[in-house]
Amino acid sequence: METNWAGNHSYRAVGVCEPASVDELRDVVAREDRVRALGSRHSFTDIGDSAGLLVSLAGLPADVEIDPDRRQVTVGGGARYGEVAEALHAKGWALANLASLPHISVAGAVATGTHGSGDRNGSLATAVVAVEIVGPDGAIRRLTRTDPDFDGSVVALGALGIVVRLTLDIEPAYDVRQTVYTGLSWDAVLTDLDAVTAGAYSVSLFTDWVGDRVDQVWHKSRAGEPPADFLGAPRADATRHMLAGADVAAVTGQHGVPGPWHERLPHFRMAFTPSRGEELQSEYLVPRRHAAAAITELRRLGPRLAPVLQVGEIRTVAADRLWLSGAYGTDAVALHFTWVRDTPAVYALLPAIEDALLPLGARPHWGKCFVATGAAVRAVYPRLDDFARLRDRVDPAGKFGNAFLDRVLGSA
Ligand SMILES: Cc1cc2nc3c(=O)[nH]c(=O)nc-3n(C[C@H](O)[C@H](O)[C@H](O)COP(=O)(O)OP(=O)(O)OC[C@H]3O[C@@H](n4cnc5c(N)ncnc54)[C@H](O)[C@@H]3O)c2cc1C
Repeated sequence: METNWAGNHSYRAVGVCEPASVDELRDVVAREDRVRALGSRHSFTDIGDSAGLLVSLAGLPADVEIDPDRRQVTVGGGARYGEVAEALHAKGWALANLASLPHISVAGAVATGTHGSGDRNGSLATAVVAVEIVGPDGAIRRLTRTDPDFDGSVVALGALGIVVRLTLDIEPAYDVRQTVYTGLSWDAVLTDLDAVTAGAYSVSLFTDWVGDRVDQVWHKSRAGEPPADFLGAPRADATRHMLAGADVAAVTGQHGVPGPWHERLPHFRMAFTPSRGEELQSEYLVPRRHAAAAITELRRLGPRLAPVLQVGEIRTVAADRLWLSGAYGTDAVALHFTWVRDTPAVYALLPAIEDALLPLGARPHWGKCFVATGAAVRAVYPRLDDFARLRDRVDPAGKFGNAFLDRVLGSA
């Protein structure tokens, strides 16, 4: 059986089937006792596993259908952002935002609340206008924004069925300039975090959590020429990877050169391995009002994190109303960790990080490594019990359940 992208989880499912049509997929779902969708396998845990069968949608066409009048695109459940973005751009259209990599499937990213950065940018799931889900009986349900179950059914962890089509908001294509600045002082960040994160359409800060400076600021602008310096931090004179020593060929264009939205908003280029390819990741989304306190906690922990950390990243995500979103009901600051690929060492550190961050309301990213379960998860995701009830109504026999869901949902 296959492993996930990071190689830290070997799927325990009895097999993977790759239907050639949605009708075949529906038959498989109706027939099996336990089944679950497999995306592009970029999550870092057993979230996508099943005690039964996994269904990959990779063999189905991406089916990118643009509706210019409604400013929407509809894509198949196996489509990846990279291919959707190219098809959109070719016709003069764009998405509002992308994650750090274009390799991930749209359905898998939406299911886990995956996000990019930007004070006014919601998670990628906020672009979803409609979703078509194959339920336990093999029937397709189509939910739109006016449906009472919609807000619980978009970021849904694969628990409500297999998403076969998604409709997303689009806008006219636009250019982005990406500029890297180096050595931004923590004083500047902590004195006025709003000035830092509002400094461009999308801002990412990369740090090792030790020292008195943020190593790199990735500034992605839709407006004019980027500033010569950013709050006192100078422009990088050479192309930068956020990971020391990694190949800069893998990163998207820098130096303020304008380029298409989908070649600047992700950090990594589609044709290359994203990041370094050998890593684990964790991330916590903290309500914006507690961001400075959370950053201070992580700087305190910095010396303990350093031996296991490749890099940390700070991004922002706008508030939304999707029940299981890390930004549900609050603007959020996302605190991300790219770890070395040492599972015991990473999991030994996570309790200390969660002891520091969860009391501040930080929500673990569903697709990355975390240790909180049941009550601790419920304390930070206020609609978790509503989601558990929705799941019990839609899938009473737990056909789409798995060990991950048992751990995080606990008892409602
Ligand atoms: C190098 C790297 C960089 C990353 N960068 C970011 C980032 O910038 N921002 C961020 O927020 N996250 C990031 N992530 C995390 C990643 O976006 C999430 O883990 C995402 O869920 C991966 O999507 P996937 O298609 O690989 O899903 P998988 O890992 O295959 O599955 C994830 C979940 O989605 C469900 N699922 C998949 N397809 C369907 C479907 N058709 N219907 C129903 N459920 C489905 C699965 O059952 C599972 O529960 C990164 C991961 C990696 C490896």
